[in-house]
Formats: sequence, C-alpha cells, structure tokens
Amino acid sequence: MKKTNEKVRVRFAPSPTGYLHIGGLRTALYNFLYAKKNKGDYFLRIEDTDQKRTVPDAISKLIESLKWANIFHDEGVFADEKGEIVEKGEYGPYIQSKRLEIYQKYARVLVEKEKAYYCFCTPERLDSLRAVQEKAKLAPAYDKLCLKTLAPEDAKKRIANGEKYVIRFDVPETGETEFDDAVRGNVKFVNKNLDDFVILKSDGYPTYHLAHVVDDHLMKTSLVLRGEEWLPSTPKHILMFRAFGWEAPEYGHLCVILNKETKKKLSKRDGDVSVEDFMKKGYLPEAVINFIALLGWNPKTEKEMFSLEELIDEFDIAKLNRAGAIFDTEKLDWMNGMYIRKKSVEELAGLCRPYLVKYEKALTDGYLKKVLTVERERMKKLSDILENIEFYFSLPEYNRKILVWKNMDDAGIKKSLGKSKEILNGVEEDKWEINNIKEKLLEAADPKNRGELLWPLRVALTGKEKSPSPWEVAWVIGKEESIKRIGGAMEK
Ligand code: GLU
Repeated sequence: MKKTNEKVRVRFAPSPTGYLHIGGLRTALYNFLYAKKNKGDYFLRIEDTDQKRTVPDAISKLIESLKWANIFHDEGVFADEKGEIVEKGEYGPYIQSKRLEIYQKYARVLVEKEKAYYCFCTPERLDSLRAVQEKAKLAPAYDKLCLKTLAPEDAKKRIANGEKYVIRFDVPETGETEFDDAVRGNVKFVNKNLDDFVILKSDGYPTYHLAHVVDDHLMKTSLVLRGEEWLPSTPKHILMFRAFGWEAPEYGHLCVILNKETKKKLSKRDGDVSVEDFMKKGYLPEAVINFIALLGWNPKTEKEMFSLEELIDEFDIAKLNRAGAIFDTEKLDWMNGMYIRKKSVEELAGLCRPYLVKYEKALTDGYLKKVLTVERERMKKLSDILENIEFYFSLPEYNRKILVWKNMDDAGIKKSLGKSKEILNGVEEDKWEINNIKEKLLEAADPKNRGELLWPLRVALTGKEKSPSPWEVAWVIGKEESIKRIGGAMEK
C-alpha cells in the first residue's frame, strides 16, 4: 500500500558482511534512482545486528564501492576524509548496533500490547521440538509453549532471576496477510505457515525483522525496495507494523540475478560477484551502472546506453520485472567497451596506468596515449591493456609459420615483406600518420588479395595472429622500429 502524502524516503540497508554484491549495488542504484526521480531522500543504513556475520572494515569497503559507482546518499553513514566512519542526518544513529536500546524498548512495547512474548525455551528443547516436527514432515515452527503456559508476571520473575530469554512475535494462527508489492502486485501469505519468529535475541540484540521495522518507521521510509529473498519475510514485517499500530511502508521486491549457465542465483561460487571484483578487473562505473540498471528494469525502448542522468529521468518502478534477470558477462564487456571508447585517450591513459605498473618508467604518457588510440578500439576492460601492450615494447618470440598468408611459400612471404619495407621506407617521417601509412599500403596491395601484403606485415610488426591493423601498429612503434621488425621477419 502506498503511503499517502509523504515525502519519498528510501534507503539502502546492507549488512556489513565483507563486500558489496553486485545485486546489492543494483538495490542501492534503484533506490537512488527512485529518490532522485521523485525528489526524495535516499539514505544509507548499516544493518549489523548479526554480529557473527559482521566483518571489520566492511562498512568502509561498502562506502568505497558505492562511491566508485557514483551512487551517493544524502543521509546516513559516511566516511570522512580520513576514512573515519561518521553519520549525518536527523534520524540517526544509522548503524543498527548503536540503536540496541531503541529495539529493546520497542520489543517490550509489543510484549505490553500482547503481540509478543518472552520465551525461555532452551536450545535443547527447541532441537527436540524440531526433530519431532521433522519426523512428522512438518515445517519447523515454535509451538507457542511459553505463550500458552507462562503468565507475564511469571516471565518477569524469571527475567529478574537472571534467566536467559528471547522475545517472540505472536503470529496469528488464522487468516492471511496480504499486501500490494510494487513489483509483484498483490501477494498473500497464510499466517499459519509463519513461525513465531524471534524479535529480540538472548544477547539483547534484535533480529533483522524487528530492527528494520522499527527503523523504517522511525526513519520514515516510504518505500522499501529490496531483494526478492526478503519477500517470504515481508508478511512478518507487515504484521509487526500492524501490531505497533504503524502504517507500513510500501514494499517492492526486486527480481533475482541469475547465472547465465546454471540459471541459478548468482553467487560467490560463480566467481566475480562483488563490486570490488569488477572494479579491479577494469570495468568502468558508468558501464556497470548502465548494465545493472537493465537487470530487472525494462525501459521498454530499444535504447541500451543510459547515463546516470538518463536513468534518473527514465526510471519507473512500474517497469521493474518479476522474472529473474540473467547476468550476461558478454553484454557487460560489450557495454564496457562502448564506454571505454567514449573516453578521451588522456582520461583513458590515467585509468589504465594502475594496470601498467610493470612498465612504469618505460612507458611515457605520450607513448601510452598512442597505444591507446589504437588499442581502445578492441578493449573490453581496462585490464585488457596489460595483455595487449607487450608487443609495442618489444617483439615477442613467434613462430615463423604465422607469417604465412593462405598458401604462400617462403619466397612469396619474403617478397611481400620486401615490398612492405619499401613502402614504409618511402613514407616520410613527418607524414608518419595512420591514414597516410594506410593509404600507401592499400594503394600497393592487390585489392582482390590484400592479405598477401598486409598479413605478413602485420605479423612481422606484432608477432601475433590477432592485433590491430599494420598501419596502426606501425604508427605507434614508429618508422625505424617498423623497418627493423620487418627486416627481422625476412630473416626468419
Ligand atoms: N540488511 C538486509 C540485507 O542486507 C536488508 C534488507 C532490507 O533492505 O530490508 O539484505
């Protein structure tokens, strides 16, 4: 249900478990786009109530990844210039572990309202209950023993005696909980199938269920856009909002992202799934954002390339898909290549530098820019430059067989190389430009069999079966080096 007359306020609420999954970045992006489009607020909340899963430094890493992607929040948790974690905004703290008292208070409010109850069942009892249920092929569920057998005063006495307890939500045993999901439409859950879940653990920490419900109420969240894995928990959340007497935010559950081969949910086992992995491999943030924007959102046009501004303009939650979205790395590579070619060589040179540390001194900016003028046409990722740059420095060892075009014999190759050498020799130093070299070579080549001249030349210059054109390579390495390499090939 849409909240009425309220300012749009959305959040990204990751758990700091070590890295930002690409699916998490998509959630952040959609929330960000929705907020920007609707002139609303977008905030970052850290959900670290599961202390066992919390990893040191994870918050900084998360913030780093979001910053890299240019997904900026207006409110919540930030890193200052020194990298210290700071908070900004009027609804703080935004780190859940700093809000324990708030959750404890609200858990007790539910107990007072008889919507929740203290439970003293030991892990042993719960285990044997589960075993019985398993045997009877029943879904594991708490049997409400403490609700049915323990008067509130007795519970309080046991607590005063220092006994360990949890607080459980009393899920109605009859009826259904339904709501309108912004992506999936109307959804219904049978209450009987929902367990009396724990809202406050014995260590005083809330569970995710309680913490986010309290926070989304207090922080005035108007829409919760989150991953599909939370859909089955949503009736619990709606029931809690109702139990408190609060209006629930609107919910929208984003489709899963699938591995292209297995068609299963994309996971760490599939290789690179963290934003950091993509960053390291040399994907550009513009490309990653454009690509993931289309994983589950269909702009319903032919257009595929969207800048962040265009995404803000065109984003519409009515166009979010329910069906899983396939993560197609080839498409991401294609898109990344498109964005690489939109960059100036100057900018690209700066972005490629970190991948080229091994050439540090040998590689001047001027030479790198020349290489990139040629190489960027084929690049899919920034890191590709490292694999493709070698022959611009020194000719690799290569098998003379690859010099052969079709069924040319040795004499033919030599003749062809001799001709190329003569042509290149004839190009004056000050006319050593790609187009000029190209023109001279094409003039001399047999139009019906260009490879006869161009193939041996290209291999002589690069030592590779695949590379940019001979005129491009010759232009980069220069006249002298080109002539030298052709000479070397003729001797082979
Ligand atoms: N902390 C949850 C997660 O990391 C957030 C779920 C939500 O957005 O409500 O998936």
